[in-house]
Amino acid sequence: MEHGKGVQVVRPGEGAQRYELDEEALRRVLLRQDVRGLPVVVVSVAGAFRGGKSFLLNFFLRYLNASRESQLTGRWLGKEDEPLTGFHWRGGCERDTTGIHLWSEPIITTTENGKKVAVLLMDTQGTFDSQTTIGQNSTIFALSTLISSVQIYNLSGNIREDDLQNLQLFTEYGRVVSNAQDKAFQTLLFLVRDWANPFEHPYGLTGGSQLLRRRLQLNRNQEPELRHVREHLHSCFEDIKCFLMPHPGFCVGERNFDGRITNLNENFKSELLELAPSLFDPKLLTPKVISGELVSAEDFFEYFKKYVNIFNSDEVPTMGTIFQATADACLLATTRKARDLYSQQMEARVRDSVSVSNATLKAWHEEARDQALRRFTENRNLAAQADIDVQFSELTKELDTLLSFYLWNNDKKVRDTMALAAQVYEAALSR
Ligand code: GDP
Ligand code: MG
Repeated sequence: MEHGKGVQVVRPGEGAQRYELDEEALRRVLLRQDVRGLPVVVVSVAGAFRGGKSFLLNFFLRYLNASRESQLTGRWLGKEDEPLTGFHWRGGCERDTTGIHLWSEPIITTTENGKKVAVLLMDTQGTFDSQTTIGQNSTIFALSTLISSVQIYNLSGNIREDDLQNLQLFTEYGRVVSNAQDKAFQTLLFLVRDWANPFEHPYGLTGGSQLLRRRLQLNRNQEPELRHVREHLHSCFEDIKCFLMPHPGFCVGERNFDGRITNLNENFKSELLELAPSLFDPKLLTPKVISGELVSAEDFFEYFKKYVNIFNSDEVPTMGTIFQATADACLLATTRKARDLYSQQMEARVRDSVSVSNATLKAWHEEARDQALRRFTENRNLAAQADIDVQFSELTKELDTLLSFYLWNNDKKVRDTMALAAQVYEAALSR
């Protein structure tokens, strides 16, 4: 049994507010003591209703929660008669609402180089609209693409023109930040379900890359907008892949199908065995990076809030507003890192109950402050120089205020030591 549950963190709002963020729920997932400081790998599965998204995510949960040995032998797939649990699937009684669900328990795992990361699984539900480029219905797709490090675009049967349309915002955004050293987004995986032409293109990543190459080819008959998407997609995402998944079998149409693997077609199972490691093997995990920096769970919390906000304004989000929100959150994250560095440096030196001269303390403070400020300026930041300058002077002021706290504490230690000495002296006298 998987530990945890799917929690809805974004739901459709009422009135002027298009989306409502459940900040408390998000906080509970991300700001847990053992998670908040870890880099996050954010894997989202997005696409239309009843496309088998939650079903698939539950196999990912099995892979992630399995021992390394089971992962390597394929035993992670589960027992033959084990019902599939985790994110709610099978639709039916579930209300047809768009939104984002997160798995309540981030899975802590290690990358190839031994670094701990927290894997977040995101179930993104949306109905897709082919008319508008970034209409009401595809905004939730846009939001999940912005916040994930791996976006799995769950499609039924094939990659169609409409499906590419949903990517337009990203290629526009990519153009705005194209002078940055890093690509704006990380992995995009087109996941084609119920692939029916394995003789033309085989299942898995191999056939997927053949199909993708064909779909992204340019020709004169294409709409100018979609030509643009095709031309620029590769400059926005670091990695674009496609995976062709077979049909799971007749079982999915049966009323009492509970997801046990004994009912699944052999080729579906063997493709699952290829798909999960291609995303979650320690060598292949993709931690979220913004502006060249790893994003920790607590920074991710800030980005998440900022991005939901953009999609809440009356206007259709533009590259400008997305860029601004990213820059703002990036500045916050950089400030936090600098502030943490200062505290670490000071705490390492200032020991409990031992006082030092004020001059020594001031020297320590200056050293820690300068290191923190250097850390702040070294960071590649997306924000405008003027915003960076304002933040720099605010951070300087804030750190300098902390000195008075350390001085006061130091004084207190002197006073406590003196008081203690007086007590000892009096006790000795009275004996
Ligand atoms: P979601 O709305 O996209 O999250 O879809 P669910 O995961 O709830 O699955 C909806 C239905 O599709 C269930 O009855 C599943 O058994 C079935 N299903 C799961 N995977 C697949 C698939 O690859 N192909 C088809 N045709 N059905 C699937
Ligand atoms: Mg679902």
